[in-house]
Parts: sequence; C-alpha cells; structure tokens
Amino acid sequence: MEKATGTARYETRGDVALITIDNPPVNGMSHAVRMAMLDGLDRALADAGVKAIVLTGAGKAFSGGADIKEFNTPAMLAEPTLRTLIAAFEASPKPVVAALHTVAMGGGLELPLGCHFRVAAPGTQVALPEVKLGLLPGAGGTQRLPRAVGLEVALNMIVSGATVPSEQLAAAGLFDEMITGDIVEGAVAFARKVVAEKRPLELLRNRKVKHPNAEAFLQFSRNTVGAMAKNYPAPLMCLDAVAASVSKPFEEGLRVERELFTQLLLGPESRALRHAFFGERAAARIPDVPPDTPRRKVERVAVIGAGTMGGGIAMNFLNAGLPVAILEMKPEALERGLATIRRNYESTVKKGRLTAEKMEGRMALLKPTLSYEDLKDADLVIEAVFEEMGVKEQVFRKLDEVAKPGAILATNTSTLDVDRIAAFTRRPQDVVGMHFFSPANVMKLLEVVRGKATAKDVLATVMDVGKKIRKTAVVSGVCDGFIGNRMLKHYGRQANELVEEGASPQQVDRAMEKFGMAMGPFRVADLAGNDIGWAIRKRLYAEDPKTRKLVIADRLCEMGRFGQKTGAGWYRYEPGRRDAIPDPAVDEVIAAARKERGVTPRKVTDEEIVERCVYALVNEGARILEEGIAARASDIDMVYLTGYGFPVWRGGPMLYADAVGLIAVERAMKRFRAATGEAFWEPAPLLVRLAAEGKTFN
Ligand code: NAD
Repeated sequence: MEKATGTARYETRGDVALITIDNPPVNGMSHAVRMAMLDGLDRALADAGVKAIVLTGAGKAFSGGADIKEFNTPAMLAEPTLRTLIAAFEASPKPVVAALHTVAMGGGLELPLGCHFRVAAPGTQVALPEVKLGLLPGAGGTQRLPRAVGLEVALNMIVSGATVPSEQLAAAGLFDEMITGDIVEGAVAFARKVVAEKRPLELLRNRKVKHPNAEAFLQFSRNTVGAMAKNYPAPLMCLDAVAASVSKPFEEGLRVERELFTQLLLGPESRALRHAFFGERAAARIPDVPPDTPRRKVERVAVIGAGTMGGGIAMNFLNAGLPVAILEMKPEALERGLATIRRNYESTVKKGRLTAEKMEGRMALLKPTLSYEDLKDADLVIEAVFEEMGVKEQVFRKLDEVAKPGAILATNTSTLDVDRIAAFTRRPQDVVGMHFFSPANVMKLLEVVRGKATAKDVLATVMDVGKKIRKTAVVSGVCDGFIGNRMLKHYGRQANELVEEGASPQQVDRAMEKFGMAMGPFRVADLAGNDIGWAIRKRLYAEDPKTRKLVIADRLCEMGRFGQKTGAGWYRYEPGRRDAIPDPAVDEVIAAARKERGVTPRKVTDEEIVERCVYALVNEGARILEEGIAARASDIDMVYLTGYGFPVWRGGPMLYADAVGLIAVERAMKRFRAATGEAFWEPAPLLVRLAAEGKTFN
C-alpha cells in the first residue's frame, strides 16, 4: 500500500464539531483521510456536548475527490471506502453540514450529497468529472445528484463532466445556504440554526427525482449523447445510471450504478483514458532527475529563425506572457515571420477566442531583431533555422559567444544529432533539444531531447517550461528521429508496402481512420509534404545502395507531387480546398511500380493494414524502450496520443499492444516476417521477453 498521506482534523467549536479534510494540494480523500473522517464522526457522535457536525476542507479546496496518488493501488479500495464513509455520515443522528468552497469535485461532491445539509461559498467549482476518465460517479452521485437538482441539470453535469459554479447550483436547489465571508464560521452558524429550529434531517436518498416528462427527456438525450460519444461508452452509461434514479428505488439505483461503474472500470476505453491521464503526469518525472532539482530561471526567451516553426514557437511563449526576442538574418524574412504571427492572432480574434487588446499585448512582448546583441539577456534560446548542420554550427558557435552564462540553448532540429550540435559550444551541458510539432502554437507534444552532456537542472527546467506553455513534454534520448519520427518511419513504410502489395492509398487511409487515427498515413503525408521524406530517403539510398526503395513515393515526388502544397500528392486537391480526391494518375504510378517489381497485386484486408501499421510502431517502440531512448512505455504512448493523432480511447500504441496481448502481437510479427522476409519484423527482444514472461509494456 502507498504510504498514507493526509488526514482530517477534529475540533469542536462550542456545541459544533468541525471535521476538516487536510491533504494538500486538493484534499484528495486518501485512505488515511477517510479513516480520520470516520474517526472524527465517531468522536462527534460520542460527545454529548456536540449537537451538530460541520465538514469542510483546509486550504485551497473542499475536496477534489479521490486521491490520485492512490489510483490503481489497493489503498483506493480499502475500507472505509468512500461509499462506506457516505453511508456512515448519512446514518448520523446528529445533523451534518457540508461546507463547500473553492473546489468540490468527484467524491468531493458525492460525500456532501450524503450529508443532511450543504452550504457553499460563491465561486466554488463543482463537478462530477468521472466521465472524462471514461467512468461514472461510483459513490451514489448518479442517484443523489438528480434528486437534489433535478434530472436535466444532473444529467448534463454527469454526462459532460463539466464544472459548474456554486451560484448556479444554488439556484437549482443543491445548497441550503450560500455563505459569503468565512465559510467555516458561516457553516457553524448555519448548523446552530438547524439545531435551534429543530429542522428535520432530510436525506436526498428519500426524495423523488422531479421531471414533467422524464421518459421522453431521457430518450431524447440518449440519441444526442449516443451520436456524440462514438467510441466512448461512458457517457451513455452515465445516462443509464441517471435513468435508474428516476425509474428505480434508491438502493436498486445504487446497484445499477455500481454495476455500470465496474463495467467501465474494467473496459478498455477507461483504461486508455486513465493511462493517458497518468501518462501525462509520469512523463514529467525523469528517473535520474530528482523532483527537487533546482530550476534555472526562465523569464526572457529568444527564438532564432522566424519561419514555420520559429513563429509558432514564439507564440507559445507570448501566450504565456513571456517576452520573446526573435532573430532572423534578413529584414524581409523577419517581416514575413512577424506578419505570419500577426495573421495567426488575427484569425483567433476573428473567431472570437481572443480580444484585439490581448492580441496587441502579446505582439508587444515580441521583439524582432537582426542582431545577436539582443539575445544577451535571454534565459532560454530556441533555435529553429534551416535543417542543415552547417547552419546549426554557425548559430551555436555564435550563441556560445553571446548568450549569458547559464542560458539554456535549445535546438528544434528534427533529424540532426543534438550531441554534435552541443559540441559546437563550450557549454554542452546547457544544450538540449526542444522538438516542437507543426503547427507549433497548436500541437500539444514537445519532445525534450536529452543530449549526453545535458545538465539535470536544464532538463528539469525545460520540463517546467513545457508545462508553462501547456505542452505535454516527453523526454527522448538522442537517436535518429527521436521517439516519434523514428517510429513513424516504419509505420509509413508499412503503409507504402501495403500499397505495393495490392491495397490502394484510400483503403489504407480508411482502414487506419476506422481504427481511430485522426488521419490516414497518406493524407498525413500530403499534408506534411512528401518532399521531406524524399530528401531523407535519397540520402539513405546514397549512403547504402541496398536500402529498400519506396518506389511509388519516390515516383510521385519525381513528378513534383509533394502533397497539398503542390495541389497533388497521393491524392489530388482542388485549389483552396483540402479534400483528398483519388487520382487515376496515382493508380497508374502504382500499377507501373508493381509491374516493375514483379508484384501481382493481391487483396489486402483492413485487418492486415491495421496490424502491420500499428505493430510496426510497437516493434520500434519496444526497441526504443530497450535502448533507454524512452524511460517508460507510457512516454511513447503520450508521444503518439499528443503528436500523431493516435486515438486516445486506445491509449497509444504500447497500451494497445498490451490490450491485444503481447503473445498475439509477437506471433503476428513472425507471420509478417515469414510472408515478407523482412528483418524488421523480427520481434524486438524486449517484446519477446515480456511476452514469454506473460508481462506487458505498461
Ligand atoms: P523554415 O524554412 O520555415 O524556417 C527557417 C527560418 O530560419 C527561415 O525563416 C530562415 O530565414 C531562418 N534562418 C536560416 N538561417 C538562419 C540563421 N543563420 N540565423 C537566423 N535565421 C536563419 O523551416 P522550419 O520548417 O521552420 O524548420 C526549422 C527547424 O525546425 C528545422 O531544424 C526543422 O527540422 C525543425 N522542425 C520543423 C518541423 C516542421 O514541420 N516544419 C517540425 C519540427 C521541427
């Protein structure tokens, strides 16, 4: 069991007992907290001088619900469970008043729903957010909330997981009193009033859910929610649970809730969502960098290169309120870069998601420059110039001369060796990769590339910076393509080979989109530009003439079909539109390539497409793990979930492989190996070992 954390303090204020949950940061209801609360209740009941009980939270929350440190540990389900605790408070013969403030979420709302009375401070953020983790409130929330606030309000909250301010819920009847001023004093006064007036101790469980036409309303909601939730079962099951609050007696409703909760908890979608939730937190921890590593201060940022990436990178920092100097070599390039940033902001203003005033505020933080002198104060410099070692060398030698001591020098390179770049300076410990994804102001993923000399405090600082600019930062070791692109290469190769063997690009895209990818591999290639991969392949062909060529992709590039930007690639595009239209010219290229290679096209199933494309990711992922390029399987999953459009409800390629079962994955790879003769399909040693031991990646 995890070490017990947190407690609930007990004190009396005259004839009122006060139980205060105390488990920073958000008063998660850990096992220790639940024990202490039950203990507090017993003391209050045993003390004849106590006439009423007030329940509240210390510091910055009433309670955020379950303690996430205990998730997936036995402590989470150890008695007293939250359900037991709620039952105990419900059974109290003395009035119990829950005093909500700041945050009351999940179990932090379900517990108050079991109390006789609820009071709240204005502005309290109230929610049952379980659906966001693919679950439903499992401690009576689906039965008690509709009884408190009515069917519609409760259903909306539970199905969406949205946060609602306490004022709004007071109007719906959730609170007996709103308290401005000190919440504890107010709650104690309210408790005394309840005692003085001998108010009856009413429980929500004894109420009926009110709605003029519940059946019709539920049917209507079922249609809307079903259409919206597509790959997620939780929203509809939330609805089913809430429906039970209308149609069934309370205890039976609780049973339905529990059954549905367990089904969701054991299902793959909730597992994937929880994996992503915890994966994000895990990625922030670097095994050999202690959490208390001192950080460097990052108050001023500089970006070198105002092209596609440089502009987007700068916007991240402007959005976070940090001043950014942006450097180019030529005034025209600088102007072009600034105009693009401004245009980006203007389109956000047009959409109503930013005020013109805020936009100007952000632009005012941007200092365009042609001189390295203006980079002298920067705490963090991010280079985003052309992808050529010679240019990177120039820039880093110059930076080494001008940057202040201790400044972090980052490169956004996608393919170059970060250690070589670091070696251009006399301070390789300050050099790190910050690999953003395009468009850099939008995409969540940030690969933090750790060079062999990168200092621990630099890493810790950059991970914090990632959080500040709202990215999911994942550490990668130095290797060709880092985590994401190194795996993607094999995925793309499989997609190409499947077409050579008999599938069409449309079939491959459709199959992968049906699997859940945001976009199929050929549509992605057309969007990103086919010329980038072509340039890399040409280099590989030159380095090693035995490299297996991607004939079709090469031919399309020779024809100038670079994708959307040239109006044609794997598909053709009408001017100004992004719809991928199948093109007979591509079919001809494919037919000719098959002939050239002596391939008789065969029927390829969608299942084979998915298996080969996804297992290609998995096999390379396993090698990346084994080499220590990624610290944990969930880091790889986070890269794919946040940077490559992998479906969140599948949890990433590594979790998907775990769910399929590693033995089945290994056997499929051996089948592909036998069929294609390709060495790539030799299952990675780590995969073989885990499969043999009956283990998983995660
Ligand atoms: P880009 O051609 O759009 O922009 C590069 C900019 O750098 C140009 O504006 C150029 O004028 C400027 N520049 C060149 N040499 C310079 C110098 N010595 N000093 C100052 N400015 C200079 O290229 P991009 O797509 O923004 O790529 C930049 C870097 O980001 C590359 O290393 C690339 O590999 C990497 N990257 C690109 C993507 C992407 O999808 N485009 C994604 C991740 C990383």
